Amino acid sequence: MGTVYLIGAGPGDPGLLTVKAREVLETADVLIYDYLANSEFLSYAKPDAEILYVGKKGGDHTLPQDKINELIIEKAREGRSIARLKGGDPYVFGRGGEEAEELVAAGIDFEVVPGITAGVAAAAYAGIPVTHRDFTTSVCFITGHEDPTKEKSGHNWAVYAKSTSTLVFYMGVKNLPMIAENLIKNGRDPETPVSLVRWGTRCTQQSFVSTLDKVADEAERLGFKAPSIIIVGGVCSLHDKLGWFEKKPMLGKGVIVTRAREQASGLVSTLGKLGACVHEFPTISIEPMADYEPVEKAILSLAAYDWLIFTSVNGVKYFWQQLDEIGLDSRILGGLEIAAIGPATADALREKGIKPDFVPEKYVAEGVVEGLLEKGIKGKKVLIPRALVAREVLPNELEKAGAQVEVLPVYETRLSNNDPEPIRAALKSGEIDYLSFTSSSTVQNFFELISAEEFKQYKDSVKIACIGPITAKTLGEYGFSPDVQPEDYTIPALVDELVADSAK
Ligand code: SAH
Repeated sequence: MGTVYLIGAGPGDPGLLTVKAREVLETADVLIYDYLANSEFLSYAKPDAEILYVGKKGGDHTLPQDKINELIIEKAREGRSIARLKGGDPYVFGRGGEEAEELVAAGIDFEVVPGITAGVAAAAYAGIPVTHRDFTTSVCFITGHEDPTKEKSGHNWAVYAKSTSTLVFYMGVKNLPMIAENLIKNGRDPETPVSLVRWGTRCTQQSFVSTLDKVADEAERLGFKAPSIIIVGGVCSLHDKLGWFEKKPMLGKGVIVTRAREQASGLVSTLGKLGACVHEFPTISIEPMADYEPVEKAILSLAAYDWLIFTSVNGVKYFWQQLDEIGLDSRILGGLEIAAIGPATADALREKGIKPDFVPEKYVAEGVVEGLLEKGIKGKKVLIPRALVAREVLPNELEKAGAQVEVLPVYETRLSNNDPEPIRAALKSGEIDYLSFTSSSTVQNFFELISAEEFKQYKDSVKIACIGPITAKTLGEYGFSPDVQPEDYTIPALVDELVADSAK
């Protein structure tokens, strides 16, 4: 029989998954997950893992608990290892205890991988330490939504009210008026600070502080809904002083990233660290060439060239892949001068042990030729490993300047076959603040997937960010102009510009 792992997925920030949880997700045969568990974690699963959603959202249960238990047991009996993923910690209001009891009864082995519970993490992200020596000696986790079939309430409001404990209520937003009233009625000071944190640790986090007598009205006025935790106690007075997460410069800003998935990770993680809600929508996919014979030939006759010019990180990647295929390495480039068109490409070369002889100050083809002429490229033989379809400006200009240029396609970019529906839904719901383009082909392909005509309706609410003038020119062909564009044509400069624009 397989082992079942009851795993806590943490409160939402994907970085708050434990190392152990990730290891289990990567090796499990079956993944069974809930509504609150971050769907990003599903990407850790093995390619052939079976993934089952049994989520619960308020009253809308996809599968009732007893059916979930049956399902887990059935899968374990098939001898497969099972990752049962739950929001926060599996044993804190996660019904993990009940599932474990069922497993024991069925004679199935199980392990628990604790997770970071929302009551602690959402509080911390909102500037509230659940214990602090100046305020309290204890903390109490309480359900704000008791099992409705229970005959007698398990709550002892008199004890909660009289204790100096920090009270952390889960699932309590609907019952907030009742909770506040019971605490006051039983003797807690109506002036006690209370805080609500919604979607804690996520880019959509919101929080506020009030007092016990006013908090229900305030929550209603602000439209606070589930999932939120309610924190009651003196520690909430630290909210403003110790709040840090909600100060992130792009918190809650929805940004569409259209780069190819292979290239997007840097931009995606930088924006995420700044608090943005990143919507990955790769419009391009990077594919190998069908035939590498020409590349092989070029590599074997490298001695005939003087310069090698790389225009992209992918160019470097695929060129080296072919070197490797033939059983060669960077030493074969010993006699050549090497240029990188941008800082990221230069870094990719350095990773291969190559210090580029030339990196231009401005990162478009036009700016490069001048610099190369100064380096004496006139009359020289130049090889440019790059994408199959790319702008011809660099080869053309170099030829005009008297170089003998040969273009060597080492990869292809294709229109990604991404489903546009999730992005369409995000645009419709008003979650998107920025649409970012990092090359002309991202523009062209985006409007293949979502037509310019369709996008027009979002013109006023969604700002368009372009990495540089060429991308902006292509955008112009679709009838739009960029709202955000950096001076320097690099990803870090684009991010800086987005941050500056977010502050407006
Ligand atoms: N096992 C989970 C709790 C499940 S009960 C844990 O340990 O965190 C579901 C309740 O948890 C929600 O109603 C809400 O009160 C709270 N919750 C879960 N994730 C949250 C989040 N990101 N922000 C605020 N509250 C959250």
